[in-house]
Amino acid sequence: MLIDAHCHVPHAGYKKDVDSIIEDASSVGVSKLIVIGTSISENEKVIKFVVEPKHANIFCSIGIYPHEDMDKSVEELREALESALALSEKIVAIGECGIDVSNWQGGRSIEDQIKIFEMQIQVALDHDLPIIIHNRNGDAQVMALFNKYHGSKLRGVAHSFSQSWEVAQQYLDLGFYISFSGMITYPARKPLLETVAKVPLDRFLVETDSPYLPPQGHRGEPNYPEYVKIVAEKVAQVKEKPFDEIADWSYKNTCTVFNKLS
Ligand SMILES: [Zn+2]
Repeated sequence: MLIDAHCHVPHAGYKKDVDSIIEDASSVGVSKLIVIGTSISENEKVIKFVVEPKHANIFCSIGIYPHEDMDKSVEELREALESALALSEKIVAIGECGIDVSNWQGGRSIEDQIKIFEMQIQVALDHDLPIIIHNRNGDAQVMALFNKYHGSKLRGVAHSFSQSWEVAQQYLDLGFYISFSGMITYPARKPLLETVAKVPLDRFLVETDSPYLPPQGHRGEPNYPEYVKIVAEKVAQVKEKPFDEIADWSYKNTCTVFNKLS
């Protein structure tokens, strides 16, 4: 069995209806999904989705992406997260949150991104929840914040990990888990395979980040939670382990880090 540890169901970017997405995933052994909120409105949407009785095996994380809800102050965002947290026991983490240095049009400054990220770290600590980190070109900022919280109960996942083994080791040293997406199947991302090969078996997760980041063979199409199997197959191939063993480890690791999953 597998868990897609990070996807954006429901989302307009998919080209199938939600019920078929879930059915197709479960038909290849993906029995649980963690759906990710990225803004105040998306957080409300994912919470409504996971509390539906037919979605017993779907859980969510709520957070503010570095460039979402630009018109809100840090305090307003904190209050929005706090009130959303009261709505469901199926919220298993805070995030995705973090640092995104890219050519995003009209995004937040690095300074403001750090403030919003740190507020979410604090919310996660206050609620004893793990965080899901989005990090695009923000290694320095993420690590500086980590140093500040060293010795705290800060824990979580480096989502869609795309950095070097050196960076992976820093996450691992802090007790974080490394989550691999379809990116590990891209020929241009070959250097990533060093981390896939070296990450301990009890410290990695698999995810799709669908509808984004389709694996090789499906590029140019929407990605789907069922393709998390392709990610796990790639991990198995690189680690030279049987697929079932890799699937079992990723399942167990996901349940360990998101300890409210059941
Ligand atoms: Zn995502």
